[in-house]
Amino acid sequence: MDFWGHNGEYFSHCSIHMNISRNRIWWRRAGSTEVCPVPFLLGYKWHLSILLLIILVLSATAHTAQPLPWEEKHQQLLHQRDLIFEQLDEIHSVLVPRVQEEDPVLLKRLSLDPPQSRATGYGLLPEVKDNAPQAPVAPKQTFYSLKWLEGRLNEELESVEKLANDIPGTTKLEPLVARFEQSLKKLRNLENNLTYHKYWQKAVVQYAAYFRKKNELVALAREMNTLITNSGPPEKIAELRQQLLQRTAPFRPTRGLQILNLEEGEMVLPVTVCTDIENLEFLHAFKEGVQEAFSLSSAAQTHRFSVDLIWRLIRADTLYPDGVPVRGASIVMSAHRTLFTNCSLVLTTGAPSLNALVGNRIFLGTRPVSRRTLAHEFGHLLGFEDAYVRGYDGETSGPYGVVIVEWTGLTADLMGDSGRGRVSEEMITTLINAYGELAVE
Ligand SMILES: [Zn+2]
Repeated sequence: MDFWGHNGEYFSHCSIHMNISRNRIWWRRAGSTEVCPVPFLLGYKWHLSILLLIILVLSATAHTAQPLPWEEKHQQLLHQRDLIFEQLDEIHSVLVPRVQEEDPVLLKRLSLDPPQSRATGYGLLPEVKDNAPQAPVAPKQTFYSLKWLEGRLNEELESVEKLANDIPGTTKLEPLVARFEQSLKKLRNLENNLTYHKYWQKAVVQYAAYFRKKNELVALAREMNTLITNSGPPEKIAELRQQLLQRTAPFRPTRGLQILNLEEGEMVLPVTVCTDIENLEFLHAFKEGVQEAFSLSSAAQTHRFSVDLIWRLIRADTLYPDGVPVRGASIVMSAHRTLFTNCSLVLTTGAPSLNALVGNRIFLGTRPVSRRTLAHEFGHLLGFEDAYVRGYDGETSGPYGVVIVEWTGLTADLMGDSGRGRVSEEMITTLINAYGELAVE
């Protein structure tokens, strides 16, 4: 999956790159008034130079604009977070000596250090998990609001103050340690939310035109969702879904893929993927995931269609004749990808987290992953995109800024939910239309 929720993975697919903000264009124009040096003008047309000075001063003040109300609010909330951390720090210094004396086993649960992040690097594979049960995928809207965050931080401050007060009169240590752990965990989550706001609220201000377009899609998603929940006309729902899909995640055929027509109307799509992974068990599990999700779907079976994933093993010492990176080494993924010459599709290791580029490659991280999620990533190699929209409600000038809105699950299939979605009739017909020969009567 490629969103950025609060679990840290999302930034990779955010595609804000196109619009220069109004402020910026304006500043560049203002800057261009500096072509005449001030001392030169002073000797001749003093009134002109004063005018120029006024312009310069005005533009400088406009440039160092007042922080928006939400930025001030954000600062306040950071301060609130620091207060909670200080409280927890104090609680920690009171609890540690007691735990050391009474129940040292609990000591490891009292760490203030951030949780150890999972090791990543070249040659490290994720554990492959079993699939969760399949479930219908419904569009889902998630809100990220600074006002909500303020409420949670206030609650958390109260809760740690209460914990601090409870310590002296409580004889049982374990429940106190559990409360400490819980508070710390909550605080880290709230902190991730604060980081999220800092990034996206700023982006909404800076890339106003881009987000206005995104908001049109948010409106479309809402319209579709209302129809779905009120059992509206299926044709209208399908039409809106199609529109959303076209505008957020159009299918992009991968060059070189071609369906083979076998006897009795059977269709096979062979897909060759280069890989430097030598763990056959992993490759087998991956292939099994693709098989289950694609070839064994009822849609594929109805069309007598299947996908044949073929691994082309490329030895690491072929990629790196001067010495293969050690296991766990940190590598530059883009450079690593270019070493797979003559490979249009690639599966390889070494990324900080699992991510795919449509019609190009899958980079593996080391977080456990289900077979179905691997099939979702494989779907990207076939040309399917993730469909999601990030827009906002409210005003950037409001006391809390805007509420960021994320829509996921817009396609009711494996690409809409990598954990529980299924390969749909639409996905199979898309593949047949893109990679098959049109049947001639
Ligand atoms: Zn994806």
